[in-house]
Amino acid sequence: MTATTETSQAASAGAPPARAAESEAVDPALHETARTLHAPVVDWFATHARDLPWRRPEAGAWGVMVSEFMLQQTPVNRVLPVYEEWMKRWPRPADLAAEAPGEAVRAWGRLGYPRRALRLHGAAKAIAERHGGEVPVEHAQLLALPGVGEYTAAAVVSFAYGKRHAVLDTNVRRVFARAVTGRQYPPNATTAAERKLARALLPEDDTTASRWAAATMELGALVCTARSPQCARCPIAARCAWQLAGAPEHQGPARRTQAYAGTDRQVRGRLLAVLRAAKEPVAQTDLDRVWHEPIQRARALDGLVSDGLVEPLDGKRYRLPLS
Ligand code: SF4
Repeated sequence: MTATTETSQAASAGAPPARAAESEAVDPALHETARTLHAPVVDWFATHARDLPWRRPEAGAWGVMVSEFMLQQTPVNRVLPVYEEWMKRWPRPADLAAEAPGEAVRAWGRLGYPRRALRLHGAAKAIAERHGGEVPVEHAQLLALPGVGEYTAAAVVSFAYGKRHAVLDTNVRRVFARAVTGRQYPPNATTAAERKLARALLPEDDTTASRWAAATMELGALVCTARSPQCARCPIAARCAWQLAGAPEHQGPARRTQAYAGTDRQVRGRLLAVLRAAKEPVAQTDLDRVWHEPIQRARALDGLVSDGLVEPLDGKRYRLPLS
């Protein structure tokens, strides 16, 4: 998922707040498939779900929102310590909104894609200013927040408020591709057909729909993994279309992989690490030490400045943004 807050792999099914599936013609066979999948997946989740801090009641909608920003393209084990510190320091949106955006970038640490930190700070400010400090309940209000796109809005509505809304992240897309469509992998980018399928599979009532969203995501993260699905442990193995078809090899375009070593992302990460560690503005000469190649280094620094992650000062000095 690019450096945007909404990733290319994560997308809400784009449904309006209520009962989108009712307005769409649903294939009766698909309806039956959905019906047979709901109970085993939701039951499996009840006994196998990880105890993650953003799933606990005390996390609230703000905790869910923070976790969703952090988890895009970043594994749970890397997010956990940063999330815990973040929520201790900024337990409410207003707490974060009162700080300089550079403090959000500093606390983001090495999670990667640090523009997410700026966007989360922007969302916190908007929540404090427009919503009395409470994360809004409505999908449309969430979507209007800076940095909140379809996926995050759907995830907050579903996970924090227990409302019926299809949520498609890369794990859910893979589960649906295998279990329902019979393909090893979903397309590289989310398609309209996948969104329609996600809406058609959504249970009718809010409570089950919300559990289904979390359960399918967890199944993809723990069992139906990208490289080595553990079908023997899967609660829907007997119904899985891909398994029933003999587990055919992926036929579509090559799977995307993201390089890191030697890229501008790596250089940006090193530059930001110096600035995060510094309490005072940093001289250009200190930043020059992080990367040997001057053109790439300058390009990375320019990119950080134009993204608002770094503030240039007089005398060739730099710092994390104060405003
Ligand atoms: S049976 Fe295997 S491939 Fe099918 S959904 Fe379960 S883990 Fe995924």
